[in-house]
Amino acid sequence: MDFKIALLRGDGIGPEIVDSTVAVLKKIADKFGHNFSFTPYLIGGCAIDATGLPLPEETVKGCLESDSVLLGAVGGPKWDNQPGDKRPEKALLGIRSALGLYTNLRPAKLYNALRAASPLREEIVGDGFDLMIVRELTGGIYFGDRGYRQGKYGEEAYDTEAYSRVEIERIGRVAFETAMKRNKKLTSIDKANVLESSRLWRSIMHELSAEYPEVEYSDMFVDNGAMQLVRNPQQFDVIVTSNMFGDILSDEASQITGSIGMLASASLGDGTRGMYEPIHGSAPDIAGQNKANPIATILSGAMMLRYSFGLAEEADCIEKAVDKVLADGFRTADIVGNSGAEAIGCIEMTEKILERI
Ligand code: NAD
Repeated sequence: MDFKIALLRGDGIGPEIVDSTVAVLKKIADKFGHNFSFTPYLIGGCAIDATGLPLPEETVKGCLESDSVLLGAVGGPKWDNQPGDKRPEKALLGIRSALGLYTNLRPAKLYNALRAASPLREEIVGDGFDLMIVRELTGGIYFGDRGYRQGKYGEEAYDTEAYSRVEIERIGRVAFETAMKRNKKLTSIDKANVLESSRLWRSIMHELSAEYPEVEYSDMFVDNGAMQLVRNPQQFDVIVTSNMFGDILSDEASQITGSIGMLASASLGDGTRGMYEPIHGSAPDIAGQNKANPIATILSGAMMLRYSFGLAEEADCIEKAVDKVLADGFRTADIVGNSGAEAIGCIEMTEKILERI
């Protein structure tokens, strides 16, 4: 099969980890007889340097003409003083909106080989956990009405959380469908005891649950959800939540797996095109030093094969190679912990994975 992949390398470690993933995807294409073509476009700080804009029009056009998008990461201290709408991170919101990507899938898996890396005690993590957070990505407070005004105490700033029935229903369906493909268990996390938008969210999730009787459905308030994630992560299979709660909870979930360098993500819309990226940032502190862990991006590439291209066997092949490399004891510096292993670099880790495909 032929697929066109847009590469948004971005800043910091972005180019290193995207190049590793391209090497893995090329190996998969050779092994399974596919043809993947890769076209790079600018995004983030490097785009600001070259064009003055974090998300040039050409990048949006190129992504819209591709079958899927692979993103490294954007941002860094060089661009920290840019005004709000010219910051590298603004490009992420822009490209998600332009591609109509309203779903963010964030798996958080604690690998057996990395159990010791989790900050949770052994009796809590048991034999590991594997959960999926389905986060709404283009609505809620990050996109609501905002501004400055004169209030009771003088100048004040405000942001507004608003969710429509359409937005809630479509993310809810993705979550129920995702649960059907996994262990048929879904928890919706909201703040329905305080927020009107959460009350609508909850009532629509209940309506949908009637359509999916096989899915064991429950609701949870976000404060409790944050606590339950560190108290007993195994209780969760799929979690569905709003944009802001998902932003926070998915970082918490990633932290309890022990390494931010291991976690992939997919952003999806109505069609098959998606954007795939690691959950971590551009790690400017280690950029260009061959210290980055490429696994999160490589696993994002596997998600692209699975969710956008329907290539499940190929995705499994990458995931198994990663499992094997960890079981064989290879570690980048971020996951070396007290394993006694000698840390290897981004390039060497990529080679070890390529050898196992
Ligand atoms: P970060 O995720 O870049 O780094 C946090 C820590 O984790 C650092 O110590 C870093 O070295 C380490 N780390 C991250 N990824 C790693 C990897 N693959 N391998 C090994 N170690 C890794 O977060 P930050 O320091 O808060 O942000 C740095 C820049 O990235 C900022 O400009 C921020 O705005 C941006 N950022 C971008 C995205 C994105 O592009 N999606 C997401 C978050 C932050």
